Amino acid sequence: MHRALLTALCVLLASTALAERPSDSSIWAQNLRSMPKAGLDTVAQAVGDLTIEHHSFTFTIDTGRFIWLEPTTSETGPMRWAAYFEGKARFRFVPPVSIERDQVRRFYDTDSLDQFVTSALILFDDSLRSVIEHTGGRTGAETSLATRRSFEQLLRPLVRHENSLFTFSVMRALVHPGPDPFLLVMTELEDRSHTAYMYDPYRREPVHLVRDHNIPGEQFMELVSSYVDDIDESYATVNGHATDQLSPRHVEIEAALSDGGEFRGSATITYDVLDESTQFVRMALHEELEVDSIRDRFGSAVPFVRYENDSHKSEGLYLLFDRPYNPDDSLRLSYYYHGDIAKREAGEFKVDAGASWYPRYGFGRRSTYSIRFRTPRDLTFIVSADLIDSTTTGDTLYTHWEAEIPVTNLSFNIGWFTRYEFGGDGTPPVSVYYNEPLHRNVLKGSGRSTYNDVGDDIVACLELFSNTFGPFPFDRLVVGEIFYSHGESFPGFIHMGANTFISTDNWGEDHLFRAHEVAHQWWGSSLGYETYHDQWLSEGFATYASLLYLQQAKGDDRYYDKLKEYADDIFSARKYLFFDGAESGPVILGRRTASTKTEGDYNLIIYKKGAFVLHMLRTLLTDWETRNDSRFFEMLKEFHQTYRGATASTSDFRHTVERFTGTDMGWFFDQWVYHNELPEYRFVYDIESEATRRQARCTVTLESGPDNFRTLMPFEIRYDDRRTVYRTAWLEGNRAEFVLPLDGEVDKIVMNPFTAVLARVKQ
Ligand SMILES: [Zn+2]
Repeated sequence: MHRALLTALCVLLASTALAERPSDSSIWAQNLRSMPKAGLDTVAQAVGDLTIEHHSFTFTIDTGRFIWLEPTTSETGPMRWAAYFEGKARFRFVPPVSIERDQVRRFYDTDSLDQFVTSALILFDDSLRSVIEHTGGRTGAETSLATRRSFEQLLRPLVRHENSLFTFSVMRALVHPGPDPFLLVMTELEDRSHTAYMYDPYRREPVHLVRDHNIPGEQFMELVSSYVDDIDESYATVNGHATDQLSPRHVEIEAALSDGGEFRGSATITYDVLDESTQFVRMALHEELEVDSIRDRFGSAVPFVRYENDSHKSEGLYLLFDRPYNPDDSLRLSYYYHGDIAKREAGEFKVDAGASWYPRYGFGRRSTYSIRFRTPRDLTFIVSADLIDSTTTGDTLYTHWEAEIPVTNLSFNIGWFTRYEFGGDGTPPVSVYYNEPLHRNVLKGSGRSTYNDVGDDIVACLELFSNTFGPFPFDRLVVGEIFYSHGESFPGFIHMGANTFISTDNWGEDHLFRAHEVAHQWWGSSLGYETYHDQWLSEGFATYASLLYLQQAKGDDRYYDKLKEYADDIFSARKYLFFDGAESGPVILGRRTASTKTEGDYNLIIYKKGAFVLHMLRTLLTDWETRNDSRFFEMLKEFHQTYRGATASTSDFRHTVERFTGTDMGWFFDQWVYHNELPEYRFVYDIESEATRRQARCTVTLESGPDNFRTLMPFEIRYDDRRTVYRTAWLEGNRAEFVLPLDGEVDKIVMNPFTAVLARVKQ
C-alpha cells in the first residue's frame, strides 16, 4: 500500500518547480483561460491501494485508473494539474470540531462524510502528480460516453466563469507550492450532490468543503465547511493566521463620472509585499466594472483574467505577474477601468460604491487615500475624506480629497443635494445631504422636511453613543442620501437609504435603522473586526446600539418588546424543521450562518442574537439590587478605547469582558457565541410563611438544552403593596433549588424579567 505523505513531498518539489517554470506571465493568463476547457488526455495510469491522507480528509483508492486531463502549456513543456479517476474509492471527510461537523449535518444529515464513490476529479500540485505517476503502470485511456459525461459533470461546476478560483488556486500552487500541498477532490455523493474537498494553503482557512448548488437560475459552489489546520474545540485558533501576500499602503484614484452616469477611472495602488512568492493574486472589483488594462510602475502591462461571460459576472480579478515579488520589492500597480456603479436613472444617480468600487485586496487592511474626481458641475459630489481642493472649469467640477489616517475603505456620493447642518453644540458637526428633487420627482411628493427627523435622530444618537461607547471617533459626520433602501457606513460618512427620508414610522423602525448606521461609526468603522467570524462585533453591536436608541426615543416598553420579538424570532427559527431547512448555526460562524439550508440566518444570528449576547452581558454586569448597569457601559467603552483604529476578535472582546467580571468567561462565550443551543426552563415556587420569616422556595428545571448550561437569572418579586424587587440566582445543570427571602405579601414572582436571558420559561 502506498501512503502518500504529501507534506514532505511538497517541500522537496518546491525548489525545482520554481526554477523550471517560464517567466512569461501572459502564459499564465492563457493557462487560466484554457484550463476550464481541458478535455481528457489519451494517457491513463492504473492505480491500486493508494491512500491520499490530507488533514481531515482521506481518499482511499481500492482499484481503478486515472485519466490525465490535457495539460496546460508552458515554455518548458506540459504541466499536469488534474486527473479524472474511475474505479472503487472511499471519500472520507471528518471535521475535527463540532461546529464544523454541525455544518456538515446541515447539508448531508450526517456529521461527517464516509462514502464509496466510483469517480472523482482530482486537482493537484506537483507532489500528488508525482505520486500518481509512480503508483501504477500506464493503461488504456479509451473512454465511454458515460465516462465522458461523468467527467463533464464533475468539471463543469468548478470552472463556471465565476469560479476561476479553483483553477487559479491549483495553478498558483503548481508554480509556488505553499507550506502544504494543494488538493481538490470533486465527486458525486449518495445524495447526488457534487461535492469537493479542497485544501488551498494560500487561504486563511485552507480546508474547504464545497458543494454545487444547481437549480434553474441559481448555480454556484456553496461553502459548507472551512477552517484552519490546527482548529480545536476550544476555538483558540478559530481565526487562524493571516496569509495575505499583499497589503495596500496607499491608494490614489483619479476618476470621472459623466453626466450620463458612466464611471471611468484609474486606481494606482502601492502595496507592501508580505510573502516571498507573490506572483498570482486575486483582487475583488465590483462586478459591473470592466478592467481596460493594468500597468506596473514601468508601464508594462500586467496580464489579468476576469469573467468572460456576462451572465456569470463576479468580483474576482486575477493578476498574473511575470515573476514573484518578495518583501524587498516595491509593487505599484495602476488599474484602468470603467462601468456602471453610479447609473443615471430618472435623472438621479444610483450610487453603488460600497466595498469594491476600486480593486480591493485582503480583508480589513488600512491604507491612506488620495482621490481626484471630475463630476458634472451642477451636482453635489462628496467623498468620505477631507476636501483639499475644489475648482470648476466649464461644466466640470474638479475635487481633490485626502484620507491621511489609514482607513479600510471609503466611498463617494453624488446627487441634487441640499446640505443641512446639525449638531455642533457639544456634538460633532453633522451634514445631511438631502435629495429634494428625488422625493419631488421620483418618489412623488414624499419626504417633506424629513431631513430634520433624520438629522435630529443622528445628533441624538451621537449624544447617546458618545456617552455609552466613548467619544465619537471622527471629527465630523457626513450623511448622504442614496437612491436605495439600505444603508452603509464608512469612517465619518454614511450612505443612508432614501426610504428613511420618506416618513418616520410610528413603530421605531426608522429610529432603529438610522441608529444602526450611526453606531457603525464606533463598531465597524473605528473598531474593525478581525475575520468574518467576528462580524457580530460590528453588526450585533450596531443592532444592540439601535435598541438602546429605541429605548431612549420610544421608551422602555418598546425596547423590551423588541428584545422579546428578537428572542421569539431566534427560538422559532425553522420550527418547521421536519419540512425543510436546518438548525441555525452559532454566532461565531459569521456570514456562514446564511446558506441555502439556513436562509435568513445571517440577520437572525449575527444581528439579533449578536445583540442579545450584549444584552445578556448587561444582565450579568448589572447590580440587581439597585439595577445599576454602569459597569456594562464602562466595559463597552474600554473595549472601544482599546481597539479604536484597529481590529478586534471575539477573543479580544472576551478578554475585555473578563477584566470586568473578574472571572473566566469561557462558559458564557461557549454557550452563546460558539454554540447554538438555547435553554428552556420550567419554574415553580412555593411561598413559605412562618412567624419569623417568609420566603419563596423555588425550583427551576432545565427542560431542554445542554446539561451544563449555566446562567445568572434575575427574578422579579412583585409585592401586593406594588413594590417590585429583583433577586438573582445562578442556574446550573438540570435542576436548581433555592430560596428567595421575602418581606411582604407576594403577588407574583416572575423569572427572567426583561427577557434578561435568551431563554424560554414556563411558569
Ligand atoms: Zn450594519
